[in-house]
Amino acid sequence: MSGHIAEYDVIIAGAGPAGSVTAAAVAGAGYRVLVLEKNATCRSPCAGYISNTINMELPDDCVVQSKITGMRTYFPDLAFHDFELNGFVVDRPSFDMALAKKAEKSGARIKWDSPLMDINSCEVRFQGGNTHGKIIVGADGVFSKTASLLGLERQKIAVCAQYHLKGVKPMRNTAEIFFNVDYAPGGYVWIYPTGEESAKAGVGVTIGSKTPREYLDSFIRESHAFGGLDVKKTGYITGALPTGGLREKLVFNNVLLAGDSAGMADPVTGAGINNAVLAGEMAGKTIIEALESDDMAALSQYENRIKRLLGRPFARALEKRKRLDACVNNELLQEHLPELWVAFKQYWKN
Ligand SMILES: Cc1cc2nc3c(=O)[nH]c(=O)nc-3n(C[C@H](O)[C@H](O)[C@H](O)COP(=O)(O)OP(=O)(O)OC[C@H]3O[C@@H](n4cnc5c(N)ncnc54)[C@H](O)[C@@H]3O)c2cc1C
Repeated sequence: MSGHIAEYDVIIAGAGPAGSVTAAAVAGAGYRVLVLEKNATCRSPCAGYISNTINMELPDDCVVQSKITGMRTYFPDLAFHDFELNGFVVDRPSFDMALAKKAEKSGARIKWDSPLMDINSCEVRFQGGNTHGKIIVGADGVFSKTASLLGLERQKIAVCAQYHLKGVKPMRNTAEIFFNVDYAPGGYVWIYPTGEESAKAGVGVTIGSKTPREYLDSFIRESHAFGGLDVKKTGYITGALPTGGLREKLVFNNVLLAGDSAGMADPVTGAGINNAVLAGEMAGKTIIEALESDDMAALSQYENRIKRLLGRPFARALEKRKRLDACVNNELLQEHLPELWVAFKQYWKN
């Protein structure tokens, strides 16, 4: 197919949640959609916690590893605070693949192993060929090629590492979150149960002199969380997520940014799956309106809709992010955590 010119209404870079949800919506309305995915399969690094705040129906083929009903947040001195929370821990590749299959069923075409390489107005070059699309969506994650082709700055990030552990006894139905600058400077450690004797344990950090894996190893070795259990590491991933909040502009003529490429992960929690799904739905709706009216100016509505949805919560989260970053020692973190973490009432007060 090299050099073959095809015509699409929409070309989407990235088969993550933002890309596949956009693709399903637009293809479902009868338009021609191509998704270009860099990898041979879905494999975004992630802990896979999905809160049910947006009442998303999990796709049938998605592997649910545990149901979550609460979050336990640990202060640096290991005092803790319990909070009711409802959601699921999913196997992330199966979640993404189920959304990609849904997009295909709706009529979208996905080209795997086909990274986007260049955009020139409506012409798109990818590894393996060229094609044309009226509208282009950059849903290509935190290190978005689309954003860099638009000349946008790289985003502020948290770097993360996570093991899947066997031979542990995690708290049932509970997401455990640990704050301690020795193990997670500018971030936190998470333990999400995936079974009676297994859990995902990970860390995200925004500052510090060591790699996230080194921080995670020392947490597992030294912390009380595992009580000296003989833990077996059965999986390892590493990745990054944006912490700088929404990009100022999300629409550039016929190009839209959705999900992590647009900075849609929460600057404090790092959660970005739900926002990526919401962005995909809004991008889909706006693109259909623009195609139906044959008016590309209608795409600007997407930015307004996203800002209406995420503007206020993200402004709050960014202010908290700044203050979290200023907690450079455990004394400060111990004192200020209730104002700075979502599980406390104080977070929502000011
Ligand atoms: C370790 C870790 C743990 C996390 N845990 C959670 C969690 O528990 N809950 C939560 O809500 N969020 C979590 N997140 C954040 C979450 O993973 C992201 O916010 C979410 O994946 C964003 O979805 P997206 O569709 O925008 O991008 P992605 O899921 O990153 O998808 C982007 C896709 O684009 C592809 N791509 C990249 N470059 C190109 C290119 N040039 N051409 C074509 N395709 C390309 C990628 O291969 C990928 O498939 C975590 C992140 C990390 C790193």
